[in-house]
Amino acid sequence: MTGNTRVPTGAQPVANGTLVDERRCRACSQIASVTLGYGDVYGTLRSWESFYCRHCGMRWESDDIGFLQAEPRARMLAAYGEWMVRIGRAQSAFNAVKVLRTALDLDLIAAYALLKHESGIVFTGTIQECEWLKRLLEKAGESPAMSASTMT
Ligand SMILES: [Zn+2]
Repeated sequence: MTGNTRVPTGAQPVANGTLVDERRCRACSQIASVTLGYGDVYGTLRSWESFYCRHCGMRWESDDIGFLQAEPRARMLAAYGEWMVRIGRAQSAFNAVKVLRTALDLDLIAAYALLKHESGIVFTGTIQECEWLKRLLEKAGESPAMSASTMT
Protein backbone atom coordinates (compact mmCIF):
# COMPACT_ATOMS: atom_id res chain seq x y z
CA MET A 1 0.00 0.00 0.00
CA THR A 2 1.32 3.38 -0.97
CA GLY A 3 -1.73 5.28 0.26
CA ASN A 4 -0.68 8.16 2.39
CA THR A 5 -3.41 8.53 4.97
CA ARG A 6 -2.09 11.26 7.17
CA VAL A 7 -3.82 11.88 10.43
CA PRO A 8 -4.72 15.56 10.45
CA THR A 9 -3.13 17.46 13.27
CA GLY A 10 -5.35 18.73 16.02
CA ALA A 11 -7.85 17.00 18.20
CA GLN A 12 -10.24 14.51 16.69
CA PRO A 13 -13.62 13.85 18.26
CA VAL A 14 -14.29 10.20 19.00
CA ALA A 15 -17.03 8.33 20.79
CA ASN A 16 -18.35 9.30 24.21
CA GLY A 17 -17.18 12.88 24.14
CA THR A 18 -13.49 12.07 24.27
CA LEU A 19 -10.71 13.68 22.26
CA VAL A 20 -7.64 12.07 20.79
CA ASP A 21 -4.66 14.32 20.31
CA GLU A 22 -1.04 13.90 19.33
CA ARG A 23 1.81 14.53 21.70
CA ARG A 24 5.52 13.91 21.47
CA CYS A 25 6.64 11.00 23.63
CA ARG A 26 9.08 12.07 26.33
CA ALA A 27 10.81 8.71 26.27
CA CYS A 28 11.46 8.21 22.55
CA SER A 29 10.51 11.60 20.98
CA GLN A 30 8.11 9.97 18.54
CA ILE A 31 4.56 11.18 18.06
CA ALA A 32 2.17 9.38 20.36
CA SER A 33 -1.50 9.79 21.17
CA VAL A 34 -3.30 11.15 24.20
CA THR A 35 -6.96 10.45 24.80
CA LEU A 36 -8.83 12.99 26.87
CA GLY A 37 -12.07 11.98 28.54
CA TYR A 38 -14.43 14.31 30.36
CA GLY A 39 -17.76 13.99 32.01
CA ASP A 40 -20.05 13.25 34.90
CA VAL A 41 -18.91 10.47 37.21
CA TYR A 42 -21.49 9.92 39.93
CA GLY A 43 -22.31 13.61 40.18
CA THR A 44 -18.72 14.86 39.96
CA LEU A 45 -17.25 16.46 36.88
CA ARG A 46 -14.05 14.61 36.06
CA SER A 47 -11.44 14.56 33.33
CA TRP A 48 -8.85 11.91 32.57
CA GLU A 49 -5.98 11.57 30.15
CA SER A 50 -4.54 8.40 28.78
CA PHE A 51 -1.22 8.46 26.95
CA TYR A 52 0.08 5.63 24.83
CA CYS A 53 3.17 5.54 22.63
CA ARG A 54 3.05 2.74 20.09
CA HIS A 55 6.74 3.26 19.33
CA CYS A 56 8.22 2.50 22.74
CA GLY A 57 5.20 1.27 24.65
CA MET A 58 5.24 4.04 27.22
CA ARG A 59 1.89 4.75 28.78
CA TRP A 60 0.51 6.83 31.58
CA GLU A 61 -2.83 7.97 32.86
CA SER A 62 -3.94 10.90 34.94
CA ASP A 63 -7.20 12.27 36.13
CA ASP A 64 -8.57 15.41 37.63
CA ILE A 65 -11.72 16.77 39.23
CA GLY A 66 -13.64 19.84 38.11
CA PHE A 67 -13.71 21.93 34.97
CA LEU A 68 -11.09 21.39 32.30
CA GLN A 69 -8.25 23.87 31.91
CA ALA A 70 -8.81 26.55 29.28
CA GLU A 71 -6.79 24.90 26.51
CA PRO A 72 -8.28 21.38 26.49
CA ARG A 73 -11.71 22.91 27.17
CA ALA A 74 -11.40 25.06 24.04
CA ARG A 75 -10.55 21.91 22.05
CA MET A 76 -13.58 20.16 23.51
CA LEU A 77 -15.83 23.08 22.54
CA ALA A 78 -14.35 23.12 19.05
CA ALA A 79 -14.95 19.39 18.61
CA TYR A 80 -18.43 19.06 20.08
CA GLY A 81 -19.80 22.58 19.97
CA GLU A 82 -21.20 24.76 22.69
CA TRP A 83 -24.21 23.56 24.65
CA MET A 84 -26.62 25.16 27.07
CA VAL A 85 -28.83 24.20 29.98
CA ARG A 86 -32.11 26.00 30.39
CA ILE A 87 -34.62 26.01 33.22
CA GLY A 88 -38.03 27.34 32.21
CA ARG A 89 -39.48 27.77 35.64
CA ALA A 90 -37.79 26.35 38.68
CA GLN A 91 -39.83 23.95 40.82
CA SER A 92 -37.90 25.23 43.77
CA ALA A 93 -35.78 28.31 43.31
CA PHE A 94 -34.11 27.49 46.61
CA ASN A 95 -32.97 24.05 45.45
CA ALA A 96 -32.01 25.19 41.96
CA VAL A 97 -29.94 28.04 43.33
CA LYS A 98 -28.25 25.66 45.74
CA VAL A 99 -27.23 23.35 42.88
CA LEU A 100 -26.01 26.23 40.71
CA ARG A 101 -24.01 27.77 43.55
CA THR A 102 -22.23 24.55 44.39
CA ALA A 103 -21.69 23.35 40.83
CA LEU A 104 -20.56 26.64 39.35
CA ASP A 105 -18.95 28.11 42.45
CA LEU A 106 -21.21 31.17 42.47
CA ASP A 107 -22.33 33.41 45.26
CA LEU A 108 -26.00 33.62 46.18
CA ILE A 109 -26.73 36.80 44.23
CA ALA A 110 -25.06 35.53 41.05
CA ALA A 111 -26.88 32.19 41.24
CA TYR A 112 -30.26 33.89 41.71
CA ALA A 113 -29.54 36.28 38.85
CA LEU A 114 -28.76 33.29 36.63
CA LEU A 115 -31.98 31.57 37.54
CA LYS A 116 -34.09 34.69 37.08
CA HIS A 117 -32.58 35.66 33.74
CA GLU A 118 -35.34 35.96 31.14
CA SER A 119 -33.52 33.66 28.67
CA GLY A 120 -33.88 30.79 31.12
CA ILE A 121 -30.32 29.76 30.31
CA VAL A 122 -28.45 28.90 33.46
CA PHE A 123 -25.28 27.55 31.90
CA THR A 124 -23.37 27.46 28.63
CA GLY A 125 -20.41 25.16 28.14
CA THR A 126 -19.21 21.84 26.81
CA ILE A 127 -21.62 18.99 26.17
CA GLN A 128 -20.21 17.04 29.12
CA GLU A 129 -20.53 19.99 31.52
CA CYS A 130 -24.13 20.52 30.44
CA GLU A 131 -24.95 16.82 30.92
CA TRP A 132 -23.40 16.94 34.36
CA LEU A 133 -25.27 20.09 35.45
CA LYS A 134 -28.54 18.86 33.94
CA ARG A 135 -28.28 15.67 35.98
CA LEU A 136 -27.55 17.58 39.18
CA LEU A 137 -30.58 19.79 38.61
CA GLU A 138 -32.76 16.78 37.85
CA LYS A 139 -31.65 15.18 41.08
CA ALA A 140 -32.81 18.34 42.85
CA GLY A 141 -36.26 17.94 41.26
CA GLU A 142 -35.91 20.36 38.35
CA SER A 143 -36.69 19.68 34.69
CA PRO A 144 -33.86 21.37 32.80
CA ALA A 145 -33.57 21.24 29.04
CA MET A 146 -30.30 20.87 27.23
CA SER A 147 -29.60 21.92 23.67
CA ALA A 148 -26.80 22.85 21.34
CA SER A 149 -26.11 26.54 21.33
CA THR A 150 -27.05 28.18 18.05
CA MET A 151 -24.20 30.64 18.39
CA THR A 152 -21.07 29.25 16.82
ZN1 LIG B 1 7.67 6.55 22.99
